[in-house]
Amino acid sequence: MQKTITEQNLRALIDLLVKKGTRVVGPRRAGSITLYEPLASGGELILGELPRRSAKEAFFPLCENILSFEKTTEGVKVADVDPSQFPETVIVGARPCDAAAPGILDAVFSWDYKDKFYLERRRKTTIIGLACTSCDDACFCTSVGLSPADPRGSDLFLTPLEGGGYACEAVTEKGEKLLAEFPQLFTDAEAAKALPQAEPAGEKLDLARIKSWLDGNFENPLWAEISERCAGCGACAFVCPACHCFDIVDEGGETKGCRRKSWDACGFGKFTNHASGHNPRDAQPKRYRNRIMHKFKYYDDKFGKTLCTGCGRCIRACPVGIDIAAVLEEISKK
Ligand code: SF4
Ligand code: SF4
Repeated sequence: MQKTITEQNLRALIDLLVKKGTRVVGPRRAGSITLYEPLASGGELILGELPRRSAKEAFFPLCENILSFEKTTEGVKVADVDPSQFPETVIVGARPCDAAAPGILDAVFSWDYKDKFYLERRRKTTIIGLACTSCDDACFCTSVGLSPADPRGSDLFLTPLEGGGYACEAVTEKGEKLLAEFPQLFTDAEAAKALPQAEPAGEKLDLARIKSWLDGNFENPLWAEISERCAGCGACAFVCPACHCFDIVDEGGETKGCRRKSWDACGFGKFTNHASGHNPRDAQPKRYRNRIMHKFKYYDDKFGKTLCTGCGRCIRACPVGIDIAAVLEEISKK
């Protein structure tokens, strides 16, 4: 027997979670756009739109304090932010390209240095994924091994059904727990028919072939060609569910302030600027090359994973029209 939930009960689930003090994050209207943001009620959930930025900020906020300091007559007081205080969180309505990203990022955040800020939020987060029934020209998840109906990374996975409502698949124990905690919201139903899943257009990319070209072409005129237009704005990294570079700076005054961790982007001119003034990536082609190499070679070499879920956000966001899928297609034909 299949578990199903109506849209009304999905919204009621959000209301109940909020009422018991859980932080619920989901697609929500933010001015003229949709973003994954904390929801105050089920009525705020936007279904059927891919948020402008990814869901990664539920684990890895755009900017956060990691400690604060104050100099008094008695000395300097330093107070670390305590990650054990982070709230239990449920992300509702994560698209497969967003739900899959934390499983890719876990590798780097738990590698040589264990990032307790990321890992504690990750441990406390349950992801309710949602299959896509529509997509646009920028989506290419099927080219990087995912699909619009891929439950990977979700704890509970929802598939829209013909006639309304969603089939619910508990993918992990966290998903089972959610089903068990709110049995009144889920119904046993005979297998209902799912709405047809979205079909991203475009050719499937040969990632092995791309990787093999990248292995031998650190120096190649193509890098200058494709990045000639790149404005170095960093938008591609900021909307990406898989980009994870950050900077740490002290802010405040001489006697009081805080240490902050903020997103950074390899497209920025000063990203690799050394204190000496030397910059090993002193031109945009070197920076754009790093973006592609990191996602499709270095991360694969180190962790056996591709650092891209094919969400297409960087294509939609790029002010000069650089299309990563087209770049990869060009490389795959070399
Ligand atoms: S590189 Fe572009 S398409 Fe790939 S996950 Fe990041 S934003 Fe999405
Ligand atoms: S969004 Fe486009 S212009 Fe901006 S850094 Fe990325 S590739 Fe360059």
